[in-house]
This record gives sequence, structure tokens and C-alpha cells, in this order.
Amino acid sequence: RYQSLAYDHVLEIHKRHLSPVATAYFQKPLLLHQGHMEWLFDSEGNRYLDFFSGIVTVSVGHCHPKVSAVAQKQLGRLWHTSAVFFHPPMHEYAKELSALLPEPLKVIFLTNSGSEANDLAMLMARAHSNNMDIISFRGAYHGCSPYTLGLTNVGTFKMELPGGIGCQSTMCPDVFRGPWGGSHCRDSPVQTTRKCSCAPDCCQARDEYIEQFKDTLNTSVAKSLAGFFAEPIQGVNGVVQYPKGFLKEAFKLVRERGGVCIADEVQTGFGRLGSHFWGFQTHDVLPDIVTMAKGIGNGFPMAAVVTTPEIAQSLAKCLLHFNTFGGNPMACAIGSAVLEVIKEENLQKNSQEVGTYMLLKFAKLRDEFEIVGDVRGKGLMIGIEMVQDKESRKPLPREEVNQIHEDCKRLGLLVGRGGIFSQTFRIAPPMCITKPEADFAVDVFRSALIQHMERRAK
Ligand code: PMP
Repeated sequence: RYQSLAYDHVLEIHKRHLSPVATAYFQKPLLLHQGHMEWLFDSEGNRYLDFFSGIVTVSVGHCHPKVSAVAQKQLGRLWHTSAVFFHPPMHEYAKELSALLPEPLKVIFLTNSGSEANDLAMLMARAHSNNMDIISFRGAYHGCSPYTLGLTNVGTFKMELPGGIGCQSTMCPDVFRGPWGGSHCRDSPVQTTRKCSCAPDCCQARDEYIEQFKDTLNTSVAKSLAGFFAEPIQGVNGVVQYPKGFLKEAFKLVRERGGVCIADEVQTGFGRLGSHFWGFQTHDVLPDIVTMAKGIGNGFPMAAVVTTPEIAQSLAKCLLHFNTFGGNPMACAIGSAVLEVIKEENLQKNSQEVGTYMLLKFAKLRDEFEIVGDVRGKGLMIGIEMVQDKESRKPLPREEVNQIHEDCKRLGLLVGRGGIFSQTFRIAPPMCITKPEADFAVDVFRSALIQHMERRAK
């Protein structure tokens, strides 16, 4: 029935009854009717290569036939029970997911969204440490619930309402844009370059950022530290990577003060980074709590918190965790199918191969265009940061980035945006993409840049 709604009618309904988020993103948001693997189709039958996966969510492909078949089967069997009953999909899923995590991360709590998962992780950290304060990076996105908003340090989500009590931000060790950026110091096949001579070397940058981190810990937070949240690579902030070794040292400092360390794998988990299944493994750290969402269900609402038996016990002492839909049979059956597809289709390896191939091709655009300041990332999580010029690194004005973004869409490529000034393009396609599709994406992006340079020259 919805297929009969004309675009203008949809727009009218949206403006009157729905959240303005879509209209804030594109001038004319797409009216999508169908998805298949890495492709999306709009109401006029135009085809788009989806290189943002519904914000890093469609991990194995839109309407993947195997996942859809499992969902349909489960739909005819059992949709819902409450948490007071057992059902095989949940227990099978718990067994499969826990096998993918190292000891002692073996206790799973199932929720419905990343915000819910991080809310619960905050509670766990506080219950376990008996402390209140939680630290997160500037630029971090950990959710939009009243609790997690305290950890989310992105301007768009900061509001003039009290919230986030007990949350403290700390400097993000940004290797490109931070005060000690510009070093060759991150886990990426593409290194940063800086023309000015004051760039410190990588160890120096890491040490400077660690000193800043210690400053945060030595404020009032130190007396009541419950935990530290970090995304292995920041997503919303524009695929920001930290200096090598930073997280390892930060985890040590947090633990010395009695806090627990939480890895938010909502964007980085499930093989997207290619070299490892989990982002924390790329930093050679072992978190106390891992949160996951988005790619876990390939677009079906589900999320999870995984922790140690000890921390789970601390939570149990003060709260009987209950969640009506968390761990429902549909979500668990889909979650198992997603894990199976990742394995059967070697999608982690594909992320590594196609991701690295594409990253290196995008990096060539950095050498070709003055306005491409940085190309970075790992596997199929890539950021392309736009600047006015390489020397100043001032962000390219938003209107100019918007034009390039719109041109990509017009040419059939959907990419995302991120960063404080919305200056970074984010590339995070479903993990099933091929090298020819990566070539297409780079060609489209290059064409959009050429058109932009021509507009600028006029
Ligand atoms: N953590 C990270 C790293 C995220 O990117 C997001 C969503 N953008 C969340 C948590 C929150 O997830 P959700 O929108 O499912 O609540």
C-alpha cells in the first residue's frame, strides 16, 4: 500500500508527524522501496550503491536471503516470550556469541539498541566499582538516552538540559586534528602526513595525549571513578583513530584507579575492521565490558552487553535486569543467521581485502586533491576528511561538503558524514561488497571532487 504514496505526500506527512532528522541530512531524502545486499532502490526505480549501510548497520547485506529465510521461519514459529521462559534461539545465540569473545567475557545481556546496551554497561560499571564517574572521549557517540547522553560528546547532541550526571569528557587523542596530530601513529595502512615541521613523532603524540588523560583522571573523577568508555575507532566523530598504544595505557590507568573499561563495538564489531572480529583486539586490550548493536542484527533491532561473571554478579546484587524485548526469539534467530553468514561468506576477510584495497585507492585522492585532508580507517570503516587546504587543515565549509555529498548521491553512491563540522565522509558498506564496487565508489567520489573543483574555480 505504501508504494502508492507520492514523494510530495510523503514529505508532507514527514514534516507534520515525524522527526526532522532525515530532512536535516539530505536536501531531498530518498524515498526507498527496496534493498538487496549492497544495493538500495528508490521509489522511481533508481539504484544506489549503499556505502553507509543505514549508518553502519547492515553488516551482511540488505535482505540477505539466508537471514530473511531464517527470520521468516521464526516468524511462523514464535515471535515473543517474556524473559521468564527459555527458548532455543536465545540459548543457541548465547553459545555462539560467547564463543567469539575471549575469557572472561562470557556473560551476555540482550537488549534492543546500542543506547540501551550502553545504559546497562554504565549501570554495571557503577554497581561493580561502587563509584559514579564515567569518562568518555570528546567526539564520542554512545547513545541518545538520558543516561548515555552524558557520554555522547558531539555538539549536535548536547542540549541545555541537565543530564549525564557523573559523566566527564576527556580529550580525544585524534591523530589528525588534535593538538598532537599529524604523526605517523595509528593502526591504518594509510598514514597521516603533515607538512609543517612541528609534528611530533608517534610516541610523543601518544605520550602527550596520555598526560592529558592523566589530568582528567587526577581531577575529582579520580576519587570516584566507575569506568571509561571508548569506541575502538570513533564512528560519528568521523572515523577517528587513536595513537597506537594509547588505549592500552589508558586502560591500565583506569584500572589502577578502580574503574572498569568498556569497549563500545556498536560500529566496529562483527568483523568490520577486517584484521580482527572486534575492534578492541586491534588495540591489544581486553575490556571488562563490551557493548554491541547495529551490525549484530543486520538492521533488525537487537543489541548486547557482554561482561565477566564477576561484573554480572555485581549487577545482580543491585538489580534484576529485565527487558521485555531483549533476547526475543526473532532477534536471536536473526543474530545467529548473521554470525553464520559472516563465517560462511568470509566477510571479515572480505572487509580486510576490499577495505584495504579501497582505502589505498581513496588515499590517492588525498594526493590528487588539496581539499582531501586525510584518508584513514581500517577494513570497511573509512573516513575521508575534507579541508580548505592541507596546510591549515581548516574544515571545508559545510555547504561545500554538502554539494559533494549530493553529487555522490546523484551519481548513485550513498556515503555518510561525520565530524564536529560534518567535514568527514564516512564509508562503511555492507561487508559483502566487491572490488569492482569499490572501484565504482572511488570513481564516483573522484568525479564529485572534480565537479566541485570546477565549481570552486568559477
Ligand atoms: N554507540 C555507538 C558507537 C554508536 O554509533 C551508536 C549509534 N550511532 C550507539 C552507541 C547508539 O546506538 P542506538 O542508536 O542503537 O541506540
